[in-house]
Amino acid sequence: MRFADIPGLSDSKYLLTQAVKNNHVAHAQLFYGKPGSGNMAIALAFATYLNCTDKQENDSCGKCPSCVKMDKLVHPDLQFVFPVSATKGISGKNVVSSSYLNEWREFLIANPFGSLEDWSGHYGAENKQANISKEESRNIVKSMTMTSFEGEYKVLIIWLPENMHSTAANGILKILEEPPAKTIFIMVSCDYERLLTTILSRCQLFKIPNFSTEDIETYLTKTHNLLPERAKTIAALSEGSIRTAIENIDESENDDHAIFRDWMRQCWTKDFIKINQTNDIFFKMSKTAQKLFLQYAINMLRHALVHSVWPEESEKLNSDEQGFVANFGKALNEQKIEVISSEINTALYHIERNANIRILFLDLSIRIGQAMTA
Ligand SMILES: [Zn+2]
Repeated sequence: MRFADIPGLSDSKYLLTQAVKNNHVAHAQLFYGKPGSGNMAIALAFATYLNCTDKQENDSCGKCPSCVKMDKLVHPDLQFVFPVSATKGISGKNVVSSSYLNEWREFLIANPFGSLEDWSGHYGAENKQANISKEESRNIVKSMTMTSFEGEYKVLIIWLPENMHSTAANGILKILEEPPAKTIFIMVSCDYERLLTTILSRCQLFKIPNFSTEDIETYLTKTHNLLPERAKTIAALSEGSIRTAIENIDESENDDHAIFRDWMRQCWTKDFIKINQTNDIFFKMSKTAQKLFLQYAINMLRHALVHSVWPEESEKLNSDEQGFVANFGKALNEQKIEVISSEINTALYHIERNANIRILFLDLSIRIGQAMTA
């Protein structure tokens, strides 16, 4: 993972690379952010940068032997500790991170923004609370007192230290306080308030902010090949979490456009038989999909509004959408489009508050029909 692989977060990236350049790297750091934030991805990019043998101005090179190993998570000086629980094949004293290393590498490469739930699902946890055990703390002390093998720094990333058993936490206090030279501990936390204050006080706290909607949009178009408009809709409802955004891709309907286009026509002609059919489709969607659909509708209306002034804005849309936007903008004046948009916004607000979906959709369709023909 390089910093360039992570969208946005330029301040965090800058501060970390500066710390390395100025030789001010704290030996124990806590990267905290909410689930789905870039806290783990930033930790990986930072570890890669620390040991890169051809550091670029603001990032690792991505090509040197160290970077290549870091990328595959097989660098001998990059170690991980993470919550685990027993599985069918692993129990007792073997329930420590090193027993799950292959699964962990697979998981982390595919899901650098994943949650504990995702991880437990990946390694096949048998429904037990995953944690970092006392046994694990002994391993940490053992492995971190060995000198680094190849790199300049030995890096230990502890993922979700809030799931550390208190005896384990106490077991690493001493090494956190007086670590061997060139040893860096990075704790990646989503809920640092659950950490012992004795651990917290030994770490430099580093907040990883949420991703902006634009960052998520860029990420989705790049990595998931989404059309810009769909990426925008999904990003808008992701609350700064790339994990939520990825989940929402599956939720959102690919044919949102066709449903929306037909629905607008039905509202215009006040065709209540057809409106009821669309109501059925809407009712059967998950709540997230309903919100994504209405958010999509608002985006389309915004395009229809600005189309006459900035036609180049709609170049990002696919050809069906472009045709719709041009016609819709011609058929309805600005004021009407704004009224419709605000009705949909109100409906979004009510969905959030668990309104009756069938009544809400019918009522919204009537209001839109009225606004169109007023
Ligand atoms: Zn490199």
